[in-house]
Amino acid sequence: MIDDMGNKQLWIQLCVTNEDVRRITLERARQMLRDDDVEARKTGGAPARMVVLSQNDNTSNLCLCPNCKAISDREGSESGALLDFVNHVARGLKDDFPDVIVQTEAYNFTLAPPKTIRPEPNVMVRYCDNYGLSDMTRPLTDPRNAERLALLDIWAKSAQQLGIWDYWRTFDPHPPGLFAPSSNVRAMHRDILLFRERNVKYVTIENEDFMGAGLNDTPQSNDLQSYMPLRCWLGMKLIDDPDRDVNALLDTFCKGCYGAAAKPMRELLEVIEDRQSKIEANSSNMRRHVWLEALCDANFFADAYRCLDAAMLAAKDDPAALIHVRRERIIVDASFLWIEASVRRQAGSSTTFQSRDVVLKRHRADWTDYVASVFDEAGQKTIASLIEPGLQLLENLQTADTDSTRTALPTTEAEITHDGLLDEPLWQQARALRLLPRDPGAAHDDNSKFRFVWLPKHSSSASDSHSIRHPRSMTCH
Ligand SMILES: [Zn+2]
Repeated sequence: MIDDMGNKQLWIQLCVTNEDVRRITLERARQMLRDDDVEARKTGGAPARMVVLSQNDNTSNLCLCPNCKAISDREGSESGALLDFVNHVARGLKDDFPDVIVQTEAYNFTLAPPKTIRPEPNVMVRYCDNYGLSDMTRPLTDPRNAERLALLDIWAKSAQQLGIWDYWRTFDPHPPGLFAPSSNVRAMHRDILLFRERNVKYVTIENEDFMGAGLNDTPQSNDLQSYMPLRCWLGMKLIDDPDRDVNALLDTFCKGCYGAAAKPMRELLEVIEDRQSKIEANSSNMRRHVWLEALCDANFFADAYRCLDAAMLAAKDDPAALIHVRRERIIVDASFLWIEASVRRQAGSSTTFQSRDVVLKRHRADWTDYVASVFDEAGQKTIASLIEPGLQLLENLQTADTDSTRTALPTTEAEITHDGLLDEPLWQQARALRLLPRDPGAAHDDNSKFRFVWLPKHSSSASDSHSIRHPRSMTCH
């Protein structure tokens, strides 16, 4: 293929107008389906009935050779060239494999539908409600997601087979140890009802902790998302039957997961959802600490800790329920530890929170016990190296440095190194991570108004500080 700089890049995307590429792809698809039919007959299993032909992830363009570009230019979107290719393969398969669907994706640069090309009847377009664009805490029908809904509606009209790839977790490169509560329980139900209305036939939800690790699998990150087990379970029930009673399902889950602590844990979920519904901040592609500051004020922590304290007490004799409660406390405590000084200032003398030492101590214990409840020994060892930098960062962070309005470092624009990417190895070298001040009134939806700053371990000079802006131009699954 040829990229947008005119370079031949063999490893990024296929040239979808190249005759050999088309011929080989069709031949391979036929062969794979035939082989799978033989295998299915042998084993008594079901043969494959879907061929997935999507662009590669982590790139910004399809092939930009003159032939590919001509189609995309004419169609106003790179989905034009991709769909032209996918349609070609689908037409080639339909006579021999009439019940096989060729699936492709409307994702990133192919998100917008082409002007004139329509998917063949045996092509399924899987529309990706991109996490960097869509606010997952709000349904697609929310005004802030209007552009995403408009694109979905165009696809829904042009594709006879429509699929969805939705994100129910927040993505954002963030320093280790920085978590923020978020949930999509209310949004998910409305979205699932909408998918049914739009005749969606296939739904993929991306919603993972530990970056995709399963039980005793290899963890790749220490990431933890609020109420992940609940949201996965609830989502599956609702995708199975969107008419089910969400309240009844939530009660069932909470009783099963939190035992005697069901009521306060359900209440904590509502506290998060209520707070989300009231703030201006948009969770999409947002720096996590900004979301955290917008969501978690002193009132939030007062409510959250009231629920968690009640839950800990109620579950004290039930080890399984207790560890599930402590899992959610990890996220709330980490949030508190990052912005403690701001929270205490807001609270004044009206609310008292535990001392930093007490919270730090139980935070480490919660992590240790929770990880032990999820991973085997090998997994615990792997994840320890991912969790430890965050714990140490929080333990080294002074309370005074957790006030978002405080001028943490005398850094001028000239002293800042912009490397454009958040680089975790650098965070791990950090003596302590601080946040530069920003305009509190303007920051929430504007990523350019704030930055992370840290001091290297062995330096106290402001000129040694670094900053990272965060331009994310591209998303990946
Ligand atoms: Zn090409």
